[in-house]
Amino acid sequence: MQHHFTLLGCGTSTGVPLPGCSCHVCLSGHPKNFRNRTAGAFHLASGEVILIDSGPDLRHQALQHNISRVDSVIFTHAHADHILGTDDLRAFNFTSKRRITCYGSSETLDGVRNAFPYIFNPKPTYLGGLVAQLDLVSIDPQGSSDIHGLSCHFFPLPHGDTTVTGIRVGDLGYATDCKGLSPRATDVLRGVTTLFLDGLRWESHNTHNSIHEACEIARELGAQTTYLIHTTHSIDYDEVSRQLPKGIELGYDGLRVAFQD
Ligand SMILES: [Zn+2]
Ligand SMILES: [Zn+2]
Ligand SMILES: [Zn+2]
Repeated sequence: MQHHFTLLGCGTSTGVPLPGCSCHVCLSGHPKNFRNRTAGAFHLASGEVILIDSGPDLRHQALQHNISRVDSVIFTHAHADHILGTDDLRAFNFTSKRRITCYGSSETLDGVRNAFPYIFNPKPTYLGGLVAQLDLVSIDPQGSSDIHGLSCHFFPLPHGDTTVTGIRVGDLGYATDCKGLSPRATDVLRGVTTLFLDGLRWESHNTHNSIHEACEIARELGAQTTYLIHTTHSIDYDEVSRQLPKGIELGYDGLRVAFQD
């Protein structure tokens, strides 16, 4: 069956432009140099929408890319740039009148719980408005889950002292926030047609792939198209696009691709 994926953001943790920065990328005004925090959405043929992460730009991303419903969320990890929009999931509770299931590794879900104690461990004396209605469901980062009929195959990714969950659905792979791949990631991602892959910047980084490292991974996996994501303000879309090998492209906010499962 054919489904779609939207890249809701492809920027690193600060987003691009960086407030206060006067570099040529931040001042360019080029729409593809405007990067919200990295996140995505699977739009299933059956109508459900599964978010990958709910970062601090979630509300803006939902308005900009016509996300009118959210049925589930898959958290890759609990860094701030991937979870700080969790409170804004309330809007979808209000409009759909349904709870939202949020999936993640147990380590990730602990981070989400700790970041939002008023949602997951409210004081009995709480008198405010309705908090987000979310059910946390832990997944095996080495396993697979069926989410709204979509077979999601997970794999762990090395990201400093954090393990990130990567996802394969049908012929599409998504591997954000990683430096290198785990052996399972390599196995699971083999044969994908479309790959979204962390490629932070040209210079090396402790916990993210440089563009050189990402290109090497992309070459090994041989996807038809690999889109680099989680990029910084050192990456000018037009300049860097001209320098990338065939089959490797920069992601950009709003990029939409079809995938088959
Ligand atoms: Zn990140
Ligand atoms: Zn800048
Ligand atoms: Zn991270």
